[in-house]
Amino acid sequence: MDLVDNIVKLKKEKKAILLAHNYQRPEIQDIADYVGDSIELSRKAMSEKEAEIIVFSAVDFMAETAAILNPHKKVLLPSLGARCPMAQMLTADEIKKWKTLYPLVPVVLYVNTLASAKAYCDICCTSANAVEIIEALDAETVLFGPDHNLAEYVQEKTGKTILPIPEWGFCPTHLLFQPEDADMLKMQHPDAVLMVHPECTAEMRRLADFVGSTSQMCRFARESSSEKFIVATEEGLLHRLRKENPGKQFILAYEEAVCPNMKLNTLERIYLALKEEKYVISVPEDVARHTRKALEKMFEVINRKG
Ligand code: SF4
Repeated sequence: MDLVDNIVKLKKEKKAILLAHNYQRPEIQDIADYVGDSIELSRKAMSEKEAEIIVFSAVDFMAETAAILNPHKKVLLPSLGARCPMAQMLTADEIKKWKTLYPLVPVVLYVNTLASAKAYCDICCTSANAVEIIEALDAETVLFGPDHNLAEYVQEKTGKTILPIPEWGFCPTHLLFQPEDADMLKMQHPDAVLMVHPECTAEMRRLADFVGSTSQMCRFARESSSEKFIVATEEGLLHRLRKENPGKQFILAYEEAVCPNMKLNTLERIYLALKEEKYVISVPEDVARHTRKALEKMFEVINRKG
């Protein structure tokens, strides 16, 4: 029996589901029960009432979020080393320091933070809903972390004053996209549409025909009449884009744009995770309680907007 068969068998035996982030390896996406962005996956986990185990093929903060939103399920991260470097850039102490400096200013945290940081924010957001969440706040100045590029994008879109915490937070993978590469590709493919993730630099966003999260890119590509797209986000998304749009062409805006942390998950590690029920992700209850509130506030805003 090969690895895939063994994974399928174990999933059935253990009432487990496999959720894979858009940046996972193609062979993982192909056997996952659901592929999506971090919040789509956590919500999927919540709706799977029968599941007892969730194998979350992604990075640390995403598995933490799933564990917080699904306290009665066992959440497994196949590779303990799959840690997002951007999430490590903002600590609880750093947030406390900024809250002391700006005691009346709300703190909005991108879900790409650890639970220990989220516990100190007023509300969470994703790259798909950051603009909506900030617009809904009754405040003209907002502390926002940890990605300073996303903070800048939200400031441009909302006209509010967004103070990035820390001032320099970034995603190393999205920083690899450079305007000169995108310019060159646009010249080679004048009929292509350039889609850029908001974690990219302002120079990249200025060149874009469309700026959006991974889920927004999937929707845009599906609905667009264009046949060709240049894509500035982690290379894993291209597998999903190609599968969902067989007649369309997708070109990665920089060939080396691979998140090494996301790619630590392999079929073998997923098999071992299921077999040995490792690595269990849990969050201390006091941290989980505060973080859950911040996530629920985000859901309230987006559900209100429909
Ligand atoms: S792509 Fe960037 S934000 Fe996403 S997990 Fe990798 S380093 Fe973190």
